[in-house]
Amino acid sequence: MSAAASPEPDRDCPLCPRLHDFIAAWREREPRWFNAPVPTFMPPEGEDSVKLLIVGLAPGLRGANRTGRPFTGDYAGDLLYGTLIAQGLARGEFKARPDDGLQLVGTAITNAVRCVPPENKPVGAEIATCRTFLKPTIARFPNLRAILTLGSIAHQSTVRALGGRVAALPFRHGGRQEAGGITLFSSYHCSRYNTNTGVLTEDMFVNVFREIAAFLQG
Ligand code: URA
Repeated sequence: MSAAASPEPDRDCPLCPRLHDFIAAWREREPRWFNAPVPTFMPPEGEDSVKLLIVGLAPGLRGANRTGRPFTGDYAGDLLYGTLIAQGLARGEFKARPDDGLQLVGTAITNAVRCVPPENKPVGAEIATCRTFLKPTIARFPNLRAILTLGSIAHQSTVRALGGRVAALPFRHGGRQEAGGITLFSSYHCSRYNTNTGVLTEDMFVNVFREIAAFLQG
């Protein structure tokens, strides 16, 4: 019997040589940083409690790659966790540190690519390779009802992980589509760049979460 695919890469995952080398260089430079594939952030109630999975792009260099928790330590996390708390999908206070005690509620957070990419830009082969982990991540939650993808790369990789066709399920901000038995919501990524340029306003982001919260209560 073959072992089930693991949802989490090894700390020294060698599957993407460019990312492996990039992290190795940062381990030398910043030995106190996390500098490894960033694991899925889970709620304390465990995988059975997860109804919503949020899929980001990849760890930020000085954010998740430094702290070891998705969206923790860079601007994107301030907006994301603030919104999650306001919608009842997280409790506690977000202090941008993995030991801030923040707890997710019925929600897990992962990234389409687990290792920090140079310039924040994973290449196609890395996105495809890391789907090896995204697929079993989605499969590990027996009560999953919804996925929120942040940005078009996360959206497309999630559609493929669910067995859908990207042409049939295109990315659009505020999108809501059915794929593989899951309701797939999509938003522009909550990056500083997108909010500074007005591509994504706080209201636009909050509205996506209001819709998801209403869906999960229905
Ligand atoms: N931090 C993450 O973990 N993921 C992102 O997509 C952005 C910042």
